Amino acid sequence: MTQTVLAIDDSPEIHQLLKVRLKNLDVELAHADCGFDGFDQAMAANPDLILLDVMMPDASGFDICRKLKATTETRNIPVIFLTGASDVDQKVLGFDVGAVDYIQKPFDSAELNARVRAALRTKRFQDMLAQRAMIDGLTGLWNRAHFDQRMHEEVAAAARYDRPMSLIMMDVDKFKNLNDNHGHPFGDEVLQAVGDVLQDSARTSDWPCRYGGEEFGLILRETDLDGAIIMAERVREEIESLQLRNKAQLVPVTSSFGVVSSTLCMNPCDLSSKWMIESADRSLYAAKEGGRNCVRTAERR
Ligand code: GH3
Ligand code: MG
Ligand code: MG
Repeated sequence: MTQTVLAIDDSPEIHQLLKVRLKNLDVELAHADCGFDGFDQAMAANPDLILLDVMMPDASGFDICRKLKATTETRNIPVIFLTGASDVDQKVLGFDVGAVDYIQKPFDSAELNARVRAALRTKRFQDMLAQRAMIDGLTGLWNRAHFDQRMHEEVAAAARYDRPMSLIMMDVDKFKNLNDNHGHPFGDEVLQAVGDVLQDSARTSDWPCRYGGEEFGLILRETDLDGAIIMAERVREEIESLQLRNKAQLVPVTSSFGVVSSTLCMNPCDLSSKWMIESADRSLYAAKEGGRNCVRTAERR
């Protein structure tokens, strides 16, 4: 994917020069003409790298860098200072306020290129690690840490903008027996197959997660209760019709579902991630009590 670079500098000549000098790199270059506009653009566009002028009429680059580093949304964007000053104190201050590098004006083309490439390479690696920390190793779905964070954010957004969201909790039936009868490695294969079903059923706005063990959570944005029930039924049927074989033997796999929607909560003040997870879990338990391989829905609140 093409990485983006935001240049913040009050001089149009610098922007022109950067455009020419960086054109052989596979990057998208955006520009801002002053510090505060640059900060706003960084918030809105989340670039992969910021090239930041030190001296600007509205703000010092050092202050803008401090602000970027103090803000959650922009904290992880690397900053390289574009500095006219050559004294050590200025360079040191740049690192102290959180920059990863500096480039001396007037630019040496090769050096500019090399420093930008190095910063982007590190950023790509950093993004990959951050994403990997959120992915479950066995199934490739989002992991529990991400589930918790996502639920928190999606529920908050649903309450704030008064739009529906739903949660499906799902647990594989009699999975302990399956492990005991067919071995743990086959159990793992089953979890992967179940993970694939969830992944394939999910729209881009859904978050299929492995909650833990053989339990999964599917967070559905902009989805009301009816939509979530339809989705749960479809996943239930697809898991039931998986043709999984251990050696030659066909091994039936089913799962039980608990469904909850924000629309079941009459007072938006009562809507919380904790309530949604507990309600879905209670419904899932009811589905187990009700004979397994079925979908149960939470009560109104
Ligand atoms: P129920 O229908 O009531 O859900 O019964 P169950 O046997 O599925 O429920 P239980 O929670 O007792 O058993 C879950 C089992 O899942 C126990 C545990 O050993 C197994 N398990 C948890 N994580 C993994 C895993 O990553 N791989 C494999 N193969 N098994 C796992
Ligand atoms: Mg189970
Ligand atoms: Mg379980």
